[in-house]
Amino acid sequence: MVNSPLGSNTLGSLVPSRPAPDSIARRRRAGLAGIVLILALAAPRGAAAAPERPAPQWIGPRDMTDVLAAGKIRSFSRMLARMQVATANQNAFDVTYYDLDLHPNPANSVLTATVRTRASVVAGPVSTLELDFDNTNMTVDAVTCAGGPASFTHASNLLTIALDRPYLTGEMVDVTVAYHGTPLTGGFGDAFTFQTHNGTPLITSLSEPFDARLWWPCKDDPADKADSADIRVSLPSGMVTAGNGVLVESSDNGTTAFRHWKCRHPIATYLVSIASFAYSLVPDTYLPAVGPAMPLQFYLFPESVPTAGVVNQKVKSMIAAYATRYGEYPFLDEKYGEAQFLWGGGMENQTCTSLGVFNETTVAHELAHQWFGDNVTCRDFHHVWLNEGFATYSEALWAECSRATWARARSTCRS
Ligand SMILES: [Zn+2]
Repeated sequence: MVNSPLGSNTLGSLVPSRPAPDSIARRRRAGLAGIVLILALAAPRGAAAAPERPAPQWIGPRDMTDVLAAGKIRSFSRMLARMQVATANQNAFDVTYYDLDLHPNPANSVLTATVRTRASVVAGPVSTLELDFDNTNMTVDAVTCAGGPASFTHASNLLTIALDRPYLTGEMVDVTVAYHGTPLTGGFGDAFTFQTHNGTPLITSLSEPFDARLWWPCKDDPADKADSADIRVSLPSGMVTAGNGVLVESSDNGTTAFRHWKCRHPIATYLVSIASFAYSLVPDTYLPAVGPAMPLQFYLFPESVPTAGVVNQKVKSMIAAYATRYGEYPFLDEKYGEAQFLWGGGMENQTCTSLGVFNETTVAHELAHQWFGDNVTCRDFHHVWLNEGFATYSEALWAECSRATWARARSTCRS
């Protein structure tokens, strides 16, 4: 993830990205610093010599990487304060599969959906199954277990489902939850949002680190990746949904636009994502050292196609550069994609990064997360520095590989 500062949006004239919360906080702090400086200058003379202070530092491009890093640290510090660890019940099962069937309604901003969860019991017997799910804005309509109706309670952001019988270690539990609601705003400002862009509906998600539970019931713990997932989305005609994995079905009958994405690699809940808009799809291909070409799919606002294309045409070279150093792209049998959204940064959703800025550094950073964060995932978010550390290192690695950007990168590095 990259949380960009104001002014870094290379599509600024085209995309009205909202300032990230960190940027606002930074400006407020800058204002307070100015007040403190004025008070210091007004202090009476003749007082004892104050301890020597370092000269004020000019904050410019040379320090921008520090500003970005500080923004991430502040953001994740806030998130960690909200972290809820897995319950004892959740530690007794291992999720193997999620099936999301989403029906977002842009007209009233209500998400109506069903989510099926299959899990293997690892410490039975268990008679209930607990899923993380917001109970402030989201209402559970019905639950089934093994195909039959099941009773449940929904409180303290935990959905507790009574199973049809005790399940022993090694047995599979199969539950489906039907629900609806308008999801709460997440920690980064976008969990599952209904917006418009140029008057057209735009629906996007951003679930890192603990916001998947705001829009779908799940075991919201990066230590337990599902082995696979299906994501089905039904929306009004004309909307195009980008998602994780491979597109296996797409239709638009003039009333409803339906898309089914199939993810067959292990995936953490915070990396499950959709982005829906009247996107323009720009295709490209990456040719690996061995095997067939892999599709690249860039879902863009139509007016952004020319500008974003300047950097996106380099993505296949970025993948090749990382592949020679980190190993081949980890989702070679699926794809790499991007979906444009209005958040002022990027989020490395698995095989389909959500992007609000299209500068080369951000694109290279988010791509690197496919190796570090998505394929290899930290057990909990106390270790997220590993994700961000490798992705930030990869920015410099790409700069080194790309002669066109090397001189600029060198001029902004610390001496
Ligand atoms: Zn990152």
